[in-house]
Amino acid sequence: MRDATKIIRSTLSRTVPGEPLSAGPVFAAPYHTPGDSSDTPYTYARSHNPTWTALEKAIGQMESGQFASGESYTASALVFASGMAACAAVFGTVLRPGDVVVLPSNAYYTARNLLQEHFAPIGVTLRMSPTAGNAQAELLEGARLLWIESPSNPGMEICDIALLSEAAHRAGALVAVDNTTPTPLGQLPLALGADFSVASDSKSMTGHSDLLLGHVAVRDPKLHAKIDQWRTLTGAALGPMEAWLALRSIATLPLRLERSCENAQRIAEFLTTRKEVTSVLYPGLPSHPGHELAKQQMRYFGPVLSFVLQDKTAAETFLSRSMLLTDATSFGGVTTTAERRAKWGGDVVPDGFIRMSVGCEAIEDLIEDIAQALDAVR
Ligand SMILES: *Cc1c(COP(=O)(O)O)cnc(C)c1O
Repeated sequence: MRDATKIIRSTLSRTVPGEPLSAGPVFAAPYHTPGDSSDTPYTYARSHNPTWTALEKAIGQMESGQFASGESYTASALVFASGMAACAAVFGTVLRPGDVVVLPSNAYYTARNLLQEHFAPIGVTLRMSPTAGNAQAELLEGARLLWIESPSNPGMEICDIALLSEAAHRAGALVAVDNTTPTPLGQLPLALGADFSVASDSKSMTGHSDLLLGHVAVRDPKLHAKIDQWRTLTGAALGPMEAWLALRSIATLPLRLERSCENAQRIAEFLTTRKEVTSVLYPGLPSHPGHELAKQQMRYFGPVLSFVLQDKTAAETFLSRSMLLTDATSFGGVTTTAERRAKWGGDVVPDGFIRMSVGCEAIEDLIEDIAQALDAVR
């Protein structure tokens, strides 16, 4: 079955005559638990909830696939109250004092910050190098965890996930990929050898800029059990309404991703023709240093691109003159958004650096709007 069919079918409930196609959210804290509590799958909603189960089934199917050898594997997913709760679950279950974690120096700022502020002080050593050029391969000796993000954000650097996973496993480390930007439809970390596929599903996965959630997917049932226990103990529980909205949103992921990635490619190509733009960073451009690798390991190049204008004034003029680019952070929504990245601090980027998340609007309108906003920059 093709992805679009598989994903849409995975969001439906079991066929029962007279029942809705898709069951609604289940609102509960405790469940009826007569007799032995192990007789029921649901006891208390911090541990499990039927709406999570439905969402986890859908995400687990999306994360399942085939290795390069052709051998199939089955993944299971656990949902969390946010992407950061999902990242924290992997850090918290894997890392102990004395352990080494290798991560990209340009990894998602909050994940990096969590390790620096809360894990380094209790004796976890952080080793960092950029995503580009598989630089992390040099740092793996004695490591417990390799954390990867490809494409990196907002620099759009690409690394070879299969190559790094193999090197990490040889060194005795587990591998986690923050797969937020591509989503499992765009890239399958578990098929490339990673042990954990971690994501914020607040972005492209649900795509309407109105939900906060995340997930961790694994192949190994032992890792699943540890992450599950972590979630129950820390209480990083997703609300049933959010879980249900996510399930609805995921059904349109194939449509949204196809359209937004097509639009992003067209905009990236257009930007390279404009003299106001110093550089364009998008893995879909053949001129991008990670293009060939991205073509191998990704099915879509993603809706996010970055580009550089001359300075802060140029970037601010561009954003204020545009009628269709909503000035906002985050990415992956149906609405096209853009921001001057340097205003946040955290990432090392030039003052005129713009990160854009391309939505699903008509491409002609987007390009006309971007062209007139660039005209104003001159
Ligand atoms: C947004 C994001 C996160 C954190 O997710 P939240 O849902 O905001 O907690 C983690 N990693 C990446 C790459 C992200 O873009």
